[in-house]
Amino acid sequence: MTRLIFLGAPGAGKGTQAQALAQEYGIPHISTGDILRGAVASKTELGLKAKSYMDAGELVPDQLMLDLVRDRLSAEDAKVGWILDGFPRTVGQARFLDTLLNEIHQSCSHVVNFDVPDEALVARLLGRGRVDDTDAVIRNRLEVYHQQTAPLIDFYSNRGQLVLIDGSQSIEAISATLRQTLQPHPRAK
Ligand code: ADP
Repeated sequence: MTRLIFLGAPGAGKGTQAQALAQEYGIPHISTGDILRGAVASKTELGLKAKSYMDAGELVPDQLMLDLVRDRLSAEDAKVGWILDGFPRTVGQARFLDTLLNEIHQSCSHVVNFDVPDEALVARLLGRGRVDDTDAVIRNRLEVYHQQTAPLIDFYSNRGQLVLIDGSQSIEAISATLRQTLQPHPRAK
């Protein structure tokens, strides 16, 4: 069973890799950013609450995130495995995830960290042109990443669960390294 957590700064390329790998393995790619953007676009209660945080490059409060993740990981299609992209983003969220996975009798196979220097991240994000990819918001998201999310690298590394990937390589090179590092998925033969 493949259950992966992808960690990395905004623009580290984890979404691109997660999407491709999930498709190959036939497991859901669970991106909390995509779920939130969908909620904002369809103006659901969650979307209306999350929008101002996202626009400012701040984290959406845990209170909104935890139910979302619990529901998504408990869904039928997540029984065959999953790639979690964008969650956890804080040590608090990581502790919540531990408890949740225990409760639903699942365990994560690897935590993959995509490492990219800040200068490269800013260039990539400015090139991407998403609505929350303006200069000031990008800088804030990077700061939030360093303060709140980067501590997860030690958190998972201390448990021996972490796989480090150099995310400054080309998409193809990262993709090859990732597949070499992870054990072959049974369904991908
Ligand atoms: P990126 O990959 O560029 O970091 P995401 O698409 O993962 O961006 O997330 C976009 C925004 O959604 C974040 O800036 C944040 O406001 C919100 N968000 C996504 N995941 C989380 C989370 N786990 N906790 C809090 N906020 C989140």
